[in-house]
Amino acid sequence: MSQTLQAIRGMNDILPDEAELWEQFEEIVRSWLQGYGYRPIRMPLVEPTPLFARAIGTVTDIVEKEMYSFTDSLNGEQLTLRPEGTAGCVRAVMQHNLLYDGPKRLWYQGPMFRHERPQKGRYRQFHQVGVEALGFAGPDIDAEQIMMCQRLWDDLGLEDIRLELNTLGQAEERQQHRSALIAHFEQHAAQLDADAQRRLHANPLRILDSKNPAMQEIVERAPKLIDYLGRESLQHFAGVQALLKDAGIPFRINPRLVRGLDYYNLTVFEWVTESLGAQGTVCAGGRYDGLIAQLGGKPAPACGFAMGVERLLALWQAQGGQLEAVGTDVYLVHQGEGEGEKARHLAFRVAEGLRDNGYAVQLHCGGGSFKSQMKRADASGATFAVIIGDEEAAAAEVTLKPLRETGEQRRVAVDQLAEVIGERLFAWEDENGSL
Ligand code: ATP
Ligand code: MG
Repeated sequence: MSQTLQAIRGMNDILPDEAELWEQFEEIVRSWLQGYGYRPIRMPLVEPTPLFARAIGTVTDIVEKEMYSFTDSLNGEQLTLRPEGTAGCVRAVMQHNLLYDGPKRLWYQGPMFRHERPQKGRYRQFHQVGVEALGFAGPDIDAEQIMMCQRLWDDLGLEDIRLELNTLGQAEERQQHRSALIAHFEQHAAQLDADAQRRLHANPLRILDSKNPAMQEIVERAPKLIDYLGRESLQHFAGVQALLKDAGIPFRINPRLVRGLDYYNLTVFEWVTESLGAQGTVCAGGRYDGLIAQLGGKPAPACGFAMGVERLLALWQAQGGQLEAVGTDVYLVHQGEGEGEKARHLAFRVAEGLRDNGYAVQLHCGGGSFKSQMKRADASGATFAVIIGDEEAAAAEVTLKPLRETGEQRRVAVDQLAEVIGERLFAWEDENGSL
């Protein structure tokens, strides 16, 4: 195929076998969210570029180098394919004044776009399920969101995902910590490597991530954010932890967990697995109390998280998640003399009649011999073939042939077909388990 007719690198087709697994996953997700009172919201895939610059922050990986931004050639507007969902969700909540009658629990899913280097678990179009609770201030909602994640892992049968937790305090507290960090590293400037020297004033937090063994000691001794938190921040963090402990959810406090987006404060968390190699974070989130005001709305606290669907599905499959067969009940074979019109007309009527009764039917289209049609029927995975020839058509009957069991084929009157199939399916499921 010519190069121009390939999908864009890092943007994947999800073919039917996989797409059915996705749908199954989405169904589990939908009922899980319903169980916690979250309601769906759907936002556009494209938003004005300034929304993301203002929400995510200009000195973040996403805004600096990962956004698909372009100029609308018709009106010159600057647009961006959404790299994440929180900004658009908050924009929608503000635009439609959704918080007018109290807090809201909302969720969405769909593709997100980031211009990253594609690799396993990291794509340029990837999918998230995003969960946002808006208008809630206390640690209870943070804890509930974390607990609900645990329930989803349980619902999916996922093991080996651990919870990392941290608090970022409030902006002023981070500012004081930052000043203390700079002072600390300035005192030990001689021991800083070139990278750290460069970051000292721009982003001293990043020095804490240094892997340079020669710097580990001064990194270890650097001031800790927790020591700069005020009473309220500490209480909030303690509140989250107490609820998690009570729910029996183990966690590790990771002081280096800072998240890549600017808008977080207080609680941040990530769910991480070792089973996926380098791309092990399957879910990440936290509190973003300042975002709504930052976007010009009436201040309201909020808390949310997003899951990477590709990573979760990879984990699900690696840990035995299986597609429940999504089958066709009946493959309808029909052929008659001449144009085969009588048989064909009956076939259409029979197919629609079966669908009226809730059966999934593939009607053979495209003609061909009985033999070739039966081959298709076998390959379709259907439970039964229903066969209509001139003889059947004349008698208002069909031939019902089991494809997955060894039973005999038999003639059945058209008006009894749905009932007979129902009985046979019931017997079949009784012996073989559900389809
Ligand atoms: P990472 O550190 O892996 O780049 P991130 O901090 O950029 O992740 P978030 O913006 O918090 O990720 O997005 C939430 C989740 O979405 C991630 O934990 C991950 O599961 C998933 N995710 C993020 N970027 C990608 C991507 N490019 N491809 C696939 N999944 C992704
Ligand atoms: Mg990233």
